[in-house]
Amino acid sequence: MPDINMPPRCHAISAGDALQVLAATEYGLDAEEVVRRQAEYGLNRLPDPPKRSPLLRFLAHFHNVLIYVLIASAVVTGALQHWVDTGVILTVVVVNAVIGFIQEGRAEQAMDAIRGMLAPRSAVLRNGVRVSVDAAELVPGDIVLIEAGDRVPADLRLIQSRGLKVEEAILTGESVPVDKAIAPVAEEAALGDRTSMLFSGTLVSAGVGRGVVAATGAATQIGRISGMLSQVETLTTPLVAQMDRFARWLTVFILIVAASLLAYGYFVGHMLFSDLFMAVVGLSVAAIPEGLPAVLTITLAVGVRAMAQRNAIVRRLPAIETLGSVSVICSDKTGTLTRNEMMVASLADAGHVYSVDGNGYAPEGAVSLSGANALPGEHPVLMEFARTAGLCNDAMLRSHEAGWRVEGDPMEGALMALAGKITDDGTNTFRQWIRMDAIPFDAVHRYMATLHCDGAGLSRIHVKGAPEAVLALCGDQRAVHGRAEPLDVAYWNDKVEELAGEGQRVLAMAVRDMPDQHADLTTADLDGHLTLIGLIGLIDPPRAEAIKAVAECHEAGIRVKMITGDHAATARAIAGMIGLKNDDRVLTGADLEAMDDAALADAAVHTDIFARTSPAHKLRLVAALQARGLTVAMTGDGVNDAPALKRADAGIAMGLKGSEAAKEAAELVLADDNFASIAAAVREGRTVYDNIKKVISWTLPTNAGEAMTIMVALFAGMALPITAVQILWVNLITAVTLGLALAFEPSEPGTMHRPPRPRNEPLLTGGLIWHIVFVSTLFLAAVFGMYFYAIDRGYSVTSAQTVSMNTLVVLEIFHLFFIRNIYGTSLTWAAAKGTRVVWGCVISVTAAQFAITYLPPLQTVFGTEGVPVRDGLLIVAVGVVFFALIETEKKMRLAFRGP
Ligand code: ADP
Ligand code: MG
Repeated sequence: MPDINMPPRCHAISAGDALQVLAATEYGLDAEEVVRRQAEYGLNRLPDPPKRSPLLRFLAHFHNVLIYVLIASAVVTGALQHWVDTGVILTVVVVNAVIGFIQEGRAEQAMDAIRGMLAPRSAVLRNGVRVSVDAAELVPGDIVLIEAGDRVPADLRLIQSRGLKVEEAILTGESVPVDKAIAPVAEEAALGDRTSMLFSGTLVSAGVGRGVVAATGAATQIGRISGMLSQVETLTTPLVAQMDRFARWLTVFILIVAASLLAYGYFVGHMLFSDLFMAVVGLSVAAIPEGLPAVLTITLAVGVRAMAQRNAIVRRLPAIETLGSVSVICSDKTGTLTRNEMMVASLADAGHVYSVDGNGYAPEGAVSLSGANALPGEHPVLMEFARTAGLCNDAMLRSHEAGWRVEGDPMEGALMALAGKITDDGTNTFRQWIRMDAIPFDAVHRYMATLHCDGAGLSRIHVKGAPEAVLALCGDQRAVHGRAEPLDVAYWNDKVEELAGEGQRVLAMAVRDMPDQHADLTTADLDGHLTLIGLIGLIDPPRAEAIKAVAECHEAGIRVKMITGDHAATARAIAGMIGLKNDDRVLTGADLEAMDDAALADAAVHTDIFARTSPAHKLRLVAALQARGLTVAMTGDGVNDAPALKRADAGIAMGLKGSEAAKEAAELVLADDNFASIAAAVREGRTVYDNIKKVISWTLPTNAGEAMTIMVALFAGMALPITAVQILWVNLITAVTLGLALAFEPSEPGTMHRPPRPRNEPLLTGGLIWHIVFVSTLFLAAVFGMYFYAIDRGYSVTSAQTVSMNTLVVLEIFHLFFIRNIYGTSLTWAAAKGTRVVWGCVISVTAAQFAITYLPPLQTVFGTEGVPVRDGLLIVAVGVVFFALIETEKKMRLAFRGP
């Protein structure tokens, strides 16, 4: 048995010896052995990067300019022996850090949960059967199947390789892909030269192969480079980072203003230092939006989680913002807009069109010709269809309780089922044939070929692929009665159009008999030598939810374009069923190639269906659409799609059928490959952006209003209408709690009825600045108004201050309800009903206000006095008037925006 601490030098011995050393066979381990080895070697996972200790994370919340200012103030108030103030300041500082710590923990949990959803899977042979397992379950000795686009799941010794190229930059720093082969290399070869090995974490850029697992988890080469993979993404986006910078400079600005005021008040105003000092501290606290960055981070985390619940997994956070502004979505057809539950519906040979019955992937069903059962005895061509379908195939069918399922490509699964239907052998078709070699399917050449021998001296090439691609390789065709006859291209093209016009995906099948000694397959063996057997039509119905989602996107001003490798007629028929706009205009890859960039930019905007495209066309299309100022989301699954995904504003990879390479290049991964999830992600993206905007539009006027109140009082040389300690309370406890409610806001009803937001819309728009000025002025007026009212009625200053402080909090609550609906009216039942989070926050804040207003111990600390019920009602009435004013002002503004 290999020793995990001293892995065998597998690269230097032959593949056969490596299998022996690892006590493995090329058919894979059996289940018992896997369990045994899992117990011995543990999971194939790298140890988690070291986490900061909770204490350090907690202390980090004190690392903030405002907190330093507050601590310094506590020291000064302590020196002045204002113990109550000192106590309040310190308590508030600690409570604020605790809130931040808990929130950060929640945000991190949300991100961790998502990381788990992206766990890679890998295809292995166990007991001769291909299964897909969580890569963490691999053990030394497992046989892993590798293909282009995969991330190598463990250190593998190659035992089969066909054109394998691997990008090993993360290990060797060399970004040019390395050719791999099974021949052993020198014992002392450097990592980059061990061409017989595939290393965990590297990316396969081309080819297919098999390898036996030589090392897993921490014993892999990547596992030995400790800390290498510990890069952690911080929870931020450009917008939030921008806000962060803004908040930081605003802090500096305010501190300068505060210091100047302190100097002015002391030297010019001749105020008492201790009062003045507290007032200036209150001003700083009031004006600095210290809670803002934290609340924005929570908003992002909430958005990430909401998207994950809708099957859209965010890999790069800035995508959340981009998604909200997407104006065109370019989507794959197969599996994204359609269900990717394929079934063969028709077969066309040189003379007839057969239809095929069946249910899902069950290999049972009848083939019929004009309503009568057609059996392979009378129609020998059916056997040829079956053989090509069954042999030129990498998929496997498996019977589950819930029905038949495919392991591999669904289309190939459908072909396996077809082979079973014709031969009546279930899944045991053509067992005597042994595969000698293969040319895998590639979206660029669009066919797949295999070379088999039947053990009785016969060797044969089977080819399936897109009709044009296969026809181009054929020299003749199978006549109805079995002989070969000249190829009738016009006939076949007719049939292709006929089947594709019904929305069927059409494949052509061809064969060639070879001399027995043939053991490898090259494209030269195909060129012009194949005999066409006929066409196969597969149905793949559109997803019902995709039809709805496309309509939703159109409503939201987002164009949806289909980019497919499929035939133009098939694409057009499916586009019609799905409700794409312009479903009569189709551009093919060949058309695109004939255009220069300028013509392409025009065509790309006006066309919604692109057929027979290859991955390179996707890249050109993204660039063309971007050149027209559109924000492009693009889906992809293959290795070759990676450049287009990277280039797109929002690259979206398929979670189920997508390659690791595509996922890595993408910003977003769809857990269910479903177009509807893209629409849901866009909706969430818009919601997050709205919520960020709401948090900002709520916080800034609140801060400005409070700050202006203190400044006015200072300059007027009067007592503060709200004491510094109270400001501290309102800002660090009340405001943060209320603001947080906005992070959890659900989508507004009209979210998907609006056109996309312009890409570079600034955050501080004229509208927002006006809102800040307007609302903070109202705050100022109301707070002073209530203060003077109370003084006028002969209340004590303390009592008047309590009234003012409560007025401020009530205004903040009403402002919160206003901000929840920035795009529509707040005067609906649904808007008033709010959400659990909003009411939870409002009720906690209200309870806290009652406590500090009426509980004697808190009264001493915060310098408050009980407010009579009548005045309490008056405060609420002021809130109602304030709400009516800002709501009316919104109506006035909306009136100019048209319907
Ligand atoms: P799509 O955009 O619909 O996913 P693909 O690029 O996967 O299109 O496929 C393009 C064409 O290549 C298909 O219409 C089909 O004719 C052919 N094709 C797809 N998969 C295979 C395969 N596994 N073997 C042979 N031909 C295939
Ligand atoms: Mg495909």
